Amino acid sequence: MAVQSLYRKWRSQTFAELVGQEHVVQTLRNAIAEDRVGHAYLFTGPRGVGKTTMARLLAKAVNCLHPDPAARPCGDCEMCVAIAEGRAVDVIEMDAASHTSVEDAREIIERVQFRPSVARVKVYIIDETHMLSTAAFNALLKTLEEPPDHALFILATTEVHKVPATILSRCQRFTFVRHSVTSMAAHLRRIAAAEGIALAEGAPEAIARAATGSLRDALGILEQLASFVEGPITLHHVQSLLGMTAAAEVDALIAALLNADLTAALRAVNAVSNQGADLRQFTRDLVERLRAVMLLKATDDRALLDLGDDEVTQLTQWAQQAEMATLVQWVKLFSNLDYQLRITPYGQLPLEVAVVEALLAPPPTTQPAAPRPSVARSPTHAPVTAPLPQPAAPAEPTLPLAPEPSVRFAQSASPAPSSAAPLPPDAPIAPPAESRPTADPPPPPPAVWAATQQIRPPADPAAARAAAADLSLLEQIEAIWEDFKRDVRPRSPTVQALLNSARPYDVEGNTIVLLVTSSFHKERLEEPKNRAIIEEVLRRRLGQVVAVRCTIEEKSVEPTDLRGKIREARKDELVRAALNIFDAHIIDIQPLEPE
Ligand SMILES: [Zn+2]
Repeated sequence: MAVQSLYRKWRSQTFAELVGQEHVVQTLRNAIAEDRVGHAYLFTGPRGVGKTTMARLLAKAVNCLHPDPAARPCGDCEMCVAIAEGRAVDVIEMDAASHTSVEDAREIIERVQFRPSVARVKVYIIDETHMLSTAAFNALLKTLEEPPDHALFILATTEVHKVPATILSRCQRFTFVRHSVTSMAAHLRRIAAAEGIALAEGAPEAIARAATGSLRDALGILEQLASFVEGPITLHHVQSLLGMTAAAEVDALIAALLNADLTAALRAVNAVSNQGADLRQFTRDLVERLRAVMLLKATDDRALLDLGDDEVTQLTQWAQQAEMATLVQWVKLFSNLDYQLRITPYGQLPLEVAVVEALLAPPPTTQPAAPRPSVARSPTHAPVTAPLPQPAAPAEPTLPLAPEPSVRFAQSASPAPSSAAPLPPDAPIAPPAESRPTADPPPPPPAVWAATQQIRPPADPAAARAAAADLSLLEQIEAIWEDFKRDVRPRSPTVQALLNSARPYDVEGNTIVLLVTSSFHKERLEEPKNRAIIEEVLRRRLGQVVAVRCTIEEKSVEPTDLRGKIREARKDELVRAALNIFDAHIIDIQPLEPE
């Protein structure tokens, strides 16, 4: 089953079928019935909430052959059917994101001057309008200043702030809202029932929640599940597909925290870790849940939270049990863990420390009406956070990396050039092997490795250079990882969901290695069509062709492995700074000479 075919199949064909966005429907219906449809509309809002569906409905409505304007679009006439099937030549759909060629988009827009060949109105639906090139925007603006009578422009965008004001001012603007979990779950149930897909209790809500308001994503997920689950789709299926952690563990941890039961709390963390679940995702779920309790306590407004009925009882009870100050403190504490959990070599340790810290702090109630309990408890704060592994600290004692004192040694041992002295662009921390030894080497930069470079030839400069190039690509990918996943989403919410259980792990030449949590994820991500999506989006983001493979095993770092050592060394902030300043790379790592 092709991805999103359910979404296409269940795409609303008439206004009556459209889910949500009633305010937009009503206004447009009136305009159609009264024959005062404008020449330019701008639909804004998050993705997957029906902007393009609405645009097609409007395109149909202005061209529908039904005699009664109030009944348009009828969904049955020749024009309605042709537009629904995407074969109406006068309805031009463009995705600005994929029309990157400047000429292309501009030319298409300029062709609006020609009359429609069959339809009454020539309709342009431009998706992701904010991505249009400047030339295309100019052509669009020129057209919108004096639109031909036969033209209708429907612009859709998720990022309205990137659309020039000159365009905005010429459009009637409609804001689309996210679907609520409840309404989306109900819609999923209806479609599943019609498709003969059995959904167990809790599954539709979990899908809806994961789709964060996007009906298209929700149906994409449902479709993926239906394609590999035999029998009813359960909450567990949804969670394992999406790499979501069991809500039960999150709830167990919150209950333990509220009962000040440290043993139970640590046990919950352990249970999650033992399941091999993604601890970052677990922590995010935990924060999301604590946030819900906090909001419920603060406002008592369930509408604010978009919760299923099943959850309200539990959360309300927690909200009554918890102190507001404690909730705030916990939300802050756990929401700060994301980065630590990503880079820590110590597994669940940061989460455990946070749990201990959460319960060590004196509960706000025991304090004599302290208005700002977080201030009062800051002394206990510091010693507890201190043992957390810090990213910049030299990691393995087995590695002959330079800790701070050695750095100072290296700097003082070599004549440091004035920081103002211009260096050649590739001022070599590592000069090419053949040029060494020179009679009069350039002054070494004040980098950690400089001193040793002067003493010994590198182990294998070519291999080291390759490793350094690989690792710098890896860093680039790490830097764009979250954006990259967002880019994947419009193409396949399922692949995006799968990627939530993956992280960039290594680079081998032009192959990017992703570390995934299970063989299930590896197999799905390596399916040719999924891999093609990932590689295409990465190619766009990185500007270079890359291949992707997945692994489920973390290589242990061999102390003798140069590559491993370089990888570790690059984690050091000072080293990174030196590499950046001198646009250099590490070619070897040696223990420092004794003083
Ligand atoms: Zn019609």
